[in-house]
Amino acid sequence: MDKFEQMMKDVKRTSPEELKADMEKFKGTCICPKCPTHTTCAKNAQELLFCLHGKSFMCISEQKACLCPTCPLTPELGLKNNSFCMKGAEKAQRYEHALWGTKMV
Ligand code: SF4
Ligand code: SF4
Repeated sequence: MDKFEQMMKDVKRTSPEELKADMEKFKGTCICPKCPTHTTCAKNAQELLFCLHGKSFMCISEQKACLCPTCPLTPELGLKNNSFCMKGAEKAQRYEHALWGTKMV
């Protein structure tokens, strides 16, 4: 079991209060607002933390770059993917890769 899988398992034993506090901490760490892909619409809607929340809800439709590989949360959470705002959360991308055996483009 890798770091991300362990984290997902631990989440089930975390209280709602602790989970909320963790999410706020993660949001403060997310560097998406510095990414050229992060639009004004996404900023206004305070869309962040796509690696856990999943794709942007109608604000991002063109990828210009991705800063996720340099985000402190990538090693902290054990993320293996990126471009989460367009491709979906880490959990969803892992599921797709497991189904198809390769990265979907
Ligand atoms: S890995 Fe990407 S989506 Fe996740 S918090 Fe960091 S910058 Fe945001
Ligand atoms: S998920 Fe990656 S591509 Fe999307 S805004 Fe965040 S850093 Fe940029």
